[in-house]
Amino acid sequence: MSEKYDAILIGAGMSGLAAGIRLAQYDKRVLILEKHYLWGGLNSFYKRRGRIFDVGLHALTNFAPKGRRGVPLTKLLRQLRIRHSDLQLGEQNYSEIAFPTERLRFSNEFELFESEIARAFPDQVDGFAKLTEAIFAYDSFTPPDPDLLARGELAKFITEPLLVEMLMLPMCYYGSAIPGDIAWYQFAILFKSFYDEGFARPEGGIRPLLDLLVKRYKSLGGELRMKSGVAEILQQGAGSLRSAAGVRLENGEEIFADQVLSSAGFGPTMEMCGAELGARVTDEDRGQLSFNETVIVTDKTPMDFGNYGAAITFFNDSDTFDYRCPAPGGLGIDPRSGVICSPNNYAATEPLTEGWMRFTALASASHWGDLAQADATEYATQKQRAAEAFLDSASRFAPDPRPFEIDRDLFTPNTIRRFCGHPKGAVYGAPKKRLDGATELPGLFLMGTDQGLLGVVGAMLSGISMANRHCLQPTA
Ligand SMILES: Cc1cc2nc3c(=O)[nH]c(=O)nc-3n(C[C@H](O)[C@H](O)[C@H](O)COP(=O)(O)OP(=O)(O)OC[C@H]3O[C@@H](n4cnc5c(N)ncnc54)[C@H](O)[C@@H]3O)c2cc1C
Repeated sequence: MSEKYDAILIGAGMSGLAAGIRLAQYDKRVLILEKHYLWGGLNSFYKRRGRIFDVGLHALTNFAPKGRRGVPLTKLLRQLRIRHSDLQLGEQNYSEIAFPTERLRFSNEFELFESEIARAFPDQVDGFAKLTEAIFAYDSFTPPDPDLLARGELAKFITEPLLVEMLMLPMCYYGSAIPGDIAWYQFAILFKSFYDEGFARPEGGIRPLLDLLVKRYKSLGGELRMKSGVAEILQQGAGSLRSAAGVRLENGEEIFADQVLSSAGFGPTMEMCGAELGARVTDEDRGQLSFNETVIVTDKTPMDFGNYGAAITFFNDSDTFDYRCPAPGGLGIDPRSGVICSPNNYAATEPLTEGWMRFTALASASHWGDLAQADATEYATQKQRAAEAFLDSASRFAPDPRPFEIDRDLFTPNTIRRFCGHPKGAVYGAPKKRLDGATELPGLFLMGTDQGLLGVVGAMLSGISMANRHCLQPTA
C-alpha cells in the first residue's frame, strides 16, 4: 500500500488548484491528479503558430479594486493569501448587451448600467431598483430555494418583455446549464459579479494566473501529477460504513487518502465509484449546453479597424432570446445569439499589438461528436462553415475582423469533452447542482462546476469553500 494523503483532488482546473492551495496552507498532505498534460481545465491555454491562445477566458468576472470589502474576489485572495497586485488585473473599457432595437452598456461602475436602463426603459426604473434590492438582499451562496428559476422571479419586477430578454442573455451565456432559463441564485450571483463588481483581464491572459496558482501550491508542499487520469474511486467498509478510500489511476496505480474532492463533474465522478452508484446518474445529470468558439487574430486592433471598444458584446438578433442546444444537423450552432469579446479592450501596461476577437456560439455536442467520428475532413470543413455563418451573424453587432485576419482557431464541444472530460462538452455541467458538495459516498465531495459556482472566480471559491467545509472543519 502506497503512502496515504489527507486529500486527493481530482482535476487541476481553477477549483482543484484553489482547494489545493487552501489545504496545503494548513499543512495537509494533498495531491492533485490531472488527466491532461496541462493545468487550468476549461480555463487553460495552448500554443499555436507561436501565439498563446486562452482556452476559455473572456473576462474575469467579479472584479473588485484592492481593498473592497465583502466581495468574492477579496475573500478569495484573503483565503489563498495572494496579493491583489499579483493578479495584474486590467479593467474593461465597457461591455454591452445588443439587441436589434436596443443596446445597454455597462462597466465596472454600477451607475452606468442604471443610467442605461433609465435611458432605454424609463418606465422600468422602479422595477429595476426593486430587482436590484431583492438581489442584494438574497442569500445567493446558500439559497433557501435553489430550484427557483430566474424568468419567474424577473417577471415580479420587470414588466417590459424586451428588458427581461436583455437581462437574461448575459447571465445564461455565462453560467446556465438549464435550457431557456437560469437558476435564480445563479442569476443573482452573476448579476452582482457583472454589474456591481465588473470585468477585468489578467495581463497576459490566463497563463500568468495559472502559473501563480501552481507555483503557490507547490511552494506550500502540494503535489501535482499531470497525465494522471483517475479511473476509479476506491472504497472501504460496507453498508453505512462505506466511504471513499482513495483512487485507482488509469495506469492501475492505487493511491490512498482520507478524503477525495472531485472537479470532474457529478456524472463522471459517480461513474468512477462503480456500477451501483454510477447507475444512478441520469441523462439530466450530464447537461447539454455547449459552445463553439472562433478566435480571430488580426493585424490591427478592433479599435483601429472598427472603432470597437467593448470588452464583451452579448448579442441577440430578435426581441426574444432562445437559450438552448441547437438541434443536430444544419450548421451545428445557433447563429442568432452569441458572445463577442476582445482582450484588446482592457486596460494593460503593455497593450496587445495584434487584434484578438473571440466569438462564442451555442452548439450541438451530438452534431459535432457524430461528425468528427464519421469523417475528419468533413468535420474540419463544417467547422469553418459554421464559423463563417456565425461571423456573418455577429458582424451585425460588432465589426467584422475577417478582412484583417492573420490567424484563426476554432473549437467545438468535442474539444471541451476531450480536454476537460465534461460529457457532451457541457460547459456548465449538470443543470442540478450539489451546493453542499456532498455525494452518496462519505469522504467523496464535489467541487467546481457541478457544486454550483462557475467561472474563474466562482470555481476557485468553490474549491476553497469545499476544502474549508469538508477537510478543514474539525469533525464533531
Ligand atoms: C469557452 C469558455 C469560455 C469561458 N469563459 C469564461 C470567462 O470568460 N470567465 C470566467 O470566469 N469563466 C469562463 N468560463 C468558465 C470557466 O472556465 C469554468 O467555469 C471554470 O474554469 C471551471 O473550473 P472547474 O475547476 O470547476 O472545472 P474544469 O475547468 O472543468 O476542471 C476540471 C479538471 O478536471 C480534470 N479531470 C476530469 N476528469 C478527470 C479524471 N478522471 N482524472 C483526472 N483529472 C480529471 C479535467 O481535465 C480538468 O482539468 C468559460 C468556459 C468556456 C468553456
